[in-house]
Amino acid sequence: MKTIGIIGGMSWESSALYYQNINEMTKQKLGGLHSAKIILSSVDFAEIERLQHLGDWTQLGEILTAEAKRLEQAQADFILIATNTMHKVADIVQNAIQIPLLHIADATAKELVKKKYQKVGFIGTRYSMEEDFYIKRLEEQYGLVVITPSKQDRDNIHRIIYEELCLGKILPESRETYIDIVNRLHAAGAEAVIEGCTEITLLLKQEHVIVPLFDTTYIHAKAAVDEALTPTL
Ligand code: GLU
Repeated sequence: MKTIGIIGGMSWESSALYYQNINEMTKQKLGGLHSAKIILSSVDFAEIERLQHLGDWTQLGEILTAEAKRLEQAQADFILIATNTMHKVADIVQNAIQIPLLHIADATAKELVKKKYQKVGFIGTRYSMEEDFYIKRLEEQYGLVVITPSKQDRDNIHRIIYEELCLGKILPESRETYIDIVNRLHAAGAEAVIEGCTEITLLLKQEHVIVPLFDTTYIHAKAAVDEALTPTL
């Protein structure tokens, strides 16, 4: 079994889900007392959020690169960045290490393509919804057509992520807000909706909406388990 390196803490609320998902899937696949080999390097999210807000992605790239190198030195076989947003610096991190970085957008796109979805909605932080690094990858590398919510909806999604979900606050009124937004994306033609932020699954689950949801936290964890259990040739 390969050792999974995780850069987590962004936020720890979702890193806890990664830890649980990865171990549960490993147990499901191998049975008995099996569990995953994981090295978790968890950052202080207050510092990360402050730099995001300042737009200092250079420093954010340096911080994540240092964490990735630490995991590589600790003998991780590959790494995950356990957040969608911080994939804005994924290429910088990958270029600084020898081991593979398992990209969350690739894992998600592969699931969508496998299930033959073409036009999909995307919800996540403002960075992920409004900048190129994520959506362009889905569109250019996987041929998906991605639609995002209106400006007002994007602002609400973003606020709820940082002011509630990353602090572990799960509020029914915010769930209603998300349900309305996802239903609007569905009405606008989305055949499926990507939960493109690793905390959203804490609030919005498949039982709340009709349109199929793609939970990036679960999908990324599953891709990690598949990789960990695939022997190297
Ligand atoms: N975990 C979130 C994501 O998947 C947002 C927190 C962050 O800024 O990393 O995008």
